[in-house]
Amino acid sequence: MEERKLWLDAVEFFRNDIDSKINCPTCKTGTLFTIDVAFEIENSDKGGERYIKCTHCNALEIVLYRKPPNNWFSKNDVE
Ligand SMILES: [Zn+2]
Repeated sequence: MEERKLWLDAVEFFRNDIDSKINCPTCKTGTLFTIDVAFEIENSDKGGERYIKCTHCNALEIVLYRKPPNNWFSKNDVE
């Protein structure tokens, strides 16, 4: 499915560059942003989940990281 592939691409783009500007694969109108949520708030290097959300529709992708990428938590001031 094309849409599914675009979401997986988005996950990879964010893993490489947290400031990636990506059009929402679902609605094609909004842009995507990330929120990182650690399993253990005091131990964020133990991994967690990255929520990738759309600014326009309710699309949401959740990626689980046991070994977080380098930019893990680099953008959590956005909340
Ligand atoms: Zn959307």
